[in-house]
Amino acid sequence: MEKSLSIIIPVHNEQESIKRLHKELQDTIKNLDYNTEMIFINDGSTDDTQKTLNELAAENHNTKIIQLARNYGQTAAIAAGIKNSSGKILITIDADLQNNPRDIPKLLEQIELGYDVVSGWRKDRKDPLVSRQLPSKIANWLISFLTGVKLHDYGCTLKAYRREFLENFAIYGEMHRLLPAYCAWQGAKLTEVVVSHRQRLYGKSKYGLSRIFKVILDLFVLKF
Ligand code: UDP
Ligand code: MG
Repeated sequence: MEKSLSIIIPVHNEQESIKRLHKELQDTIKNLDYNTEMIFINDGSTDDTQKTLNELAAENHNTKIIQLARNYGQTAAIAAGIKNSSGKILITIDADLQNNPRDIPKLLEQIELGYDVVSGWRKDRKDPLVSRQLPSKIANWLISFLTGVKLHDYGCTLKAYRREFLENFAIYGEMHRLLPAYCAWQGAKLTEVVVSHRQRLYGKSKYGLSRIFKVILDLFVLKF
């Protein structure tokens, strides 16, 4: 049976990062024995993201683009990517180069061992301590406590999923972070792998502290 993989990349104003990311992804996937597509979702960028993506898609048959009409948010972008993907395995990754494509084989290794969801864990995270890492610690603790599904790093976008666990689930708000818990409730076998994390080189983070409240609200929606 053919092994197929879709890499889903939500993008909002990342014009400086996506060429290099695309190259890093190509370098990684050429060594995989998976039939792989990359799906970039342009989530209402106002910079040159679309132009760069058009060039990449024109030159690479494995590169698809979805253009959203406005900035709907990272969760909606990921949802659009899932919907338009065809791989049996789905991997989500950030577009800003903070996640490293070189970790993708590590995630796939766990899938091949029989896990259904493999969650990246940014153990050595390169983000500000008080404004980002601390709120994230609290959020991870709270999500783990309320869902009963214990993970160190819900917020890490770099994760792998078996397609069947994502297909029938509508996500909105900030819910993509809660996907592993949802999958676990459906009977998925979960594991974590430590992944590397890099400082943001270009552009800036799209989030402030208010995100944590939105994540908590979605947590209650999911739970009840
Ligand atoms: N992103 C998006 N839509 C948004 C906000 C962010 O598609 O409305 C993308 C962004 O381009 C990046 C990823 O989601 O690829 C994570 O965003 P960011 O790096 O700003 O989050 P952080 O790493 O600071 O948590
Ligand atoms: Mg980032």
